[in-house]
Amino acid sequence: MKAMVLNKIDRLENNKKPLNLVDLPEPAPGDKEILIKILACGVCHTELDEIEGRTPPHKLPIILGHQVVGTVEKAGRDSARLKPGDRVGIGWIFSSCGECRFCLEGNENLCDQFKATGRDANGGYAEYMTVSEDYAIKIPDIFSDTQAAPLLCAGAVGYRALRLTGIEDGKKLGLTGFGASGHIVLKVARHMYPNTEIFVFARNQKERLFARELGAVWSGDTEENSPGRLDYIIDTTPAWKPIVEALKNLEKGGRLVINAIRKQDFDKDYLLKLDYPVHLWQEKEIKSVANVTRRDVGEFLELSAEIPLIPEVQEFRLEEANDALVELKDGKIRGAKVLKIN
Ligand SMILES: [Zn+2]
Ligand SMILES: [Zn+2]
Repeated sequence: MKAMVLNKIDRLENNKKPLNLVDLPEPAPGDKEILIKILACGVCHTELDEIEGRTPPHKLPIILGHQVVGTVEKAGRDSARLKPGDRVGIGWIFSSCGECRFCLEGNENLCDQFKATGRDANGGYAEYMTVSEDYAIKIPDIFSDTQAAPLLCAGAVGYRALRLTGIEDGKKLGLTGFGASGHIVLKVARHMYPNTEIFVFARNQKERLFARELGAVWSGDTEENSPGRLDYIIDTTPAWKPIVEALKNLEKGGRLVINAIRKQDFDKDYLLKLDYPVHLWQEKEIKSVANVTRRDVGEFLELSAEIPLIPEVQEFRLEEANDALVELKDGKIRGAKVLKIN
């Protein structure tokens, strides 16, 4: 099978072709696994974090990609839930132990043995992959293969962030940062919590206007004061300034949810502006989002079909994965980038 593999961690500036096209043997499914013929795989910022070493794979070479859509080609001896031909998706969660306290409490995303697709196990930048059938999620028919792919990551994690706010309909929600994940959270929140007013903070005027078009009642720059305090704020930025500024706008007892795998260091000194009475006192809470559970991915796919939420996509061939990654790094975004495979 054809696959694009990562052999070496390096900055993309130093090597604009981080992935190499290779021919590998088709993997064989274990007893509880399925072999998936991959149809599409989304291209995510997390791949850049892997390639550049911010969240490095534990072994190399590795096949990246964690927004995988495909059909079951072959089911292992003990897999009974899925059958050949079923169309499934695999998100960031590749597996967890299933036995620890976190797994049993429904927080399998926090399992010590959490394995990520395309980082700790081979992912979707290839023609085939294997995965435990328990971690493959059925894709609603409404989506094409390439449309379904981007929903498996940014959307599912955004949905988890919204869940972690503990939101109640009618209370006020803020979003700081308004990229792909922010748009999705806004649409899902409007659908699930119709009486909740949404406030968006973004550096870019175009994003602020877009937020209003999508139904935000107010939008402003990162450091502006929102009109009134907000009960929940979700941060989807790589920076620290939006955290400090969001805490200022948080209502008493409010919660800030940080949806980021890693924060960058360039503005870390902004944290020195943290003023206890202004930013933290009055029982304000901060919670981060780590990974996703199968429940998040499954519920989010169902919700997306119901709303419906159909992503704009830009298709690339498997062989063009490096071009897609370079465009993503350069901020050339015309819809979510997806590899169309098979
Ligand atoms: Zn991702
Ligand atoms: Zn576990």
